[in-house]
Amino acid sequence: MYTIEICHLYPEILNLYGDKGNITALKKRCEWRGIDVKIHNISLEDDFNPDNYDIIFIGGGQDYEQEIVKDDLLHKKGAAIKEAIEGNKVFLAICGGYQLLGKYYKTKEGKELEFLGALDFWTNGDEKRMIGNVIIECDFLKSESFDGKIVGFENHSGKTYLGKDITPLGKVIIGYGNNGEDGYEGAVYKNVYCSYLHGSLLPKNPAFTDFLLEKALNNKYKDFGTLPNLDDSFEMAARNSVINRLITSNKINKLRKIF
Ligand code: GLN
Repeated sequence: MYTIEICHLYPEILNLYGDKGNITALKKRCEWRGIDVKIHNISLEDDFNPDNYDIIFIGGGQDYEQEIVKDDLLHKKGAAIKEAIEGNKVFLAICGGYQLLGKYYKTKEGKELEFLGALDFWTNGDEKRMIGNVIIECDFLKSESFDGKIVGFENHSGKTYLGKDITPLGKVIIGYGNNGEDGYEGAVYKNVYCSYLHGSLLPKNPAFTDFLLEKALNNKYKDFGTLPNLDDSFEMAARNSVINRLITSNKINKLRKIF
């Protein structure tokens, strides 16, 4: 019997736009395959040992919610998080949780807030919020049967810029992405997957959910291999409806600009 331990960091604080739905997607896609799942909610002042977990999730939050968790993240849990990242532990970080793993957050007034510095990127606050539905294309998810496109929703004022030791999660097809400038969204370093995509992200993107689960299960069980297929017709119908709607409205908007 395979088991998987999932840590949800600051669940009652960093849960913008129902990011907890990512935990639900991970949990259900394991249970539907007979894999035993335990969820561990770890928040402020809680002891945190990443060795006890196979996947660690941190969700999004408003600026003030990031401020609430920042000291605990940096000074109580930070060293263990950095060590776990370098040890190839699987992380999923969304939006505010994504930003907190970077070097710093510079407010639009120019004040530089130290963040964890676990990954080579930084974020600059901006007057303009980047809001809307998003489609990105992830090369690492492409297969003979899947085009690598994932969908979500973004709402952030922070513009994130990637350094040299890190790669984007995907190429922006529709939306702003990391900064609305370089055409990329999210970040990947070792087994850390970061994205601005809320929605929540995983329920409508089963290929990404299974990708993360297989990474974690192969970390834990050397002979694990791949997950058996599930009937993803509902999830893919939801995903494809978003893609078709966005592509169509994008074409209409382009035509309106011409005529
Ligand atoms: N507070 C951060 C920003 O506005 C992150 C927001 C979020 O998690 N959606 O950029």
